[in-house]
Amino acid sequence: MSISAPLIQKYNTPAPRYTSYPTVPLWENNLDNNTWKGIVRKAFQDFGKEEGISIYIHLPFCESLCTYCGCNKRITKNNAVKDPYIQALLAEWNKYKEVFDGKPKIAGILLGGGTPTFFEPSYLQHLISSIFEGADITSNAEFSFEGHPNNTSFEHLKTLSDLGFNRVSYGIQDFDLKVQTAIHRIQPFEKVKHATDSARILGYTSINFDLIYGLPHQTVQTMEDTFKKVQDLRPDRIAFYSYAHLPSAFPAQKSFENFLPTAPEKSELYEFGRHLLVKMGYEEVGMDHFALPKDALTVAKTEGVLHRNFMGYTTVPSKILIGLGASSISDVYYAYGQNE
Ligand code: SF4
Repeated sequence: MSISAPLIQKYNTPAPRYTSYPTVPLWENNLDNNTWKGIVRKAFQDFGKEEGISIYIHLPFCESLCTYCGCNKRITKNNAVKDPYIQALLAEWNKYKEVFDGKPKIAGILLGGGTPTFFEPSYLQHLISSIFEGADITSNAEFSFEGHPNNTSFEHLKTLSDLGFNRVSYGIQDFDLKVQTAIHRIQPFEKVKHATDSARILGYTSINFDLIYGLPHQTVQTMEDTFKKVQDLRPDRIAFYSYAHLPSAFPAQKSFENFLPTAPEKSELYEFGRHLLVKMGYEEVGMDHFALPKDALTVAKTEGVLHRNFMGYTTVPSKILIGLGASSISDVYYAYGQNE
C-alpha cells in the first residue's frame, strides 16, 4: 500500500519520541527530594515487591561520533572517565536502595548508550555484580545490552553471559559503504558477522539489529543489498527506525543533509524495507519492531502478554523502570496500565 503524497507531507515533521505519554518535552522536573522519595517508595511497594523493577543504565561514552546520532553521548578516548562513572552509577543505585522499603527484586537490566562496550568487560562485571549484591532476581528476568559491532569482543559477550545476559542489540543502521562513510560509522560485514556468531556460540537467545531508513545516499537498491546481508545473519529481532533529522540539536547532521532522501523517497524506503522483512519471515510485533516467529516477543504478542516500557517492547511485566546514569532518560517510570 503506498501512502499519498499529501499524507506524507502532512506527517513529515519532527515529533517527540513516542515511547512515553505524556512525551518527554511535557515532563515537569520540579520534584523536591522528599516528594521524589515518596513516589519511589510507593511505586516499589505497589509493584516492585511482586513484579520487580527494571533498570536502564546509560553508559554515554563513544570513541568516535556517528554524524547521524541523536543520542545523549560524550565522545572521548580518555580511559580516566571510566572508573568515576561506574562509581557514580553505583552511588545512584545505592540511593534508590535506601528509599526502597525492602530488598529490591530485579526484573531486567538494559545497558544502553552511548557505547556500553566502550567499557572493558572488567568494568561491566564490577558494575553488574555490585548491583546484584543485596538484590533478588525474578525468575523471568531479562538482561540485555547494546553492543557496537566494532568493539564488542568475545570477552564482553562471555562476561555478560556469565552474569545472566542473553540478549544483545547491535547498531547496524546500513551495510552500504557510501552510507556508512556519510554517517561516519564504518563497520564491515565481517565484524558484524563475528559479533553475531560469537553471541550465538555463547548461547545468546535473542540478537537484535537496529536498522535505519532515511539516511544519506540510501536508495531502494542499497536497502535491498543491506537486507540481503541481514538475511545472511538472520538476527532474531529487527528494529527498523526512522532517521530523525534535527540539525539544530545535532549539528554534525548538517554534513550530509544535501544527500538525504526526500520525504516520498523516505516513505518508499520504509515500505520497501517492511516488505522485505515480511518476505524474510519476520513478523511485525509493534511500531518499528519485527521479530522471527519463534522469538519471545512474537510469542508474547500472540499470547497477548507483550509489554512496552520506556525502552521498548518487552516480555517482562515490570511496571517500574528506573534509570541510572548522567543521561538516563527517566528517574522512575510509574506506569499504571501501560501494557499492550
Ligand atoms: S550512534 Fe551510538 S556509537 Fe555512534 S555516536 Fe551515537 S551513541 Fe555513539
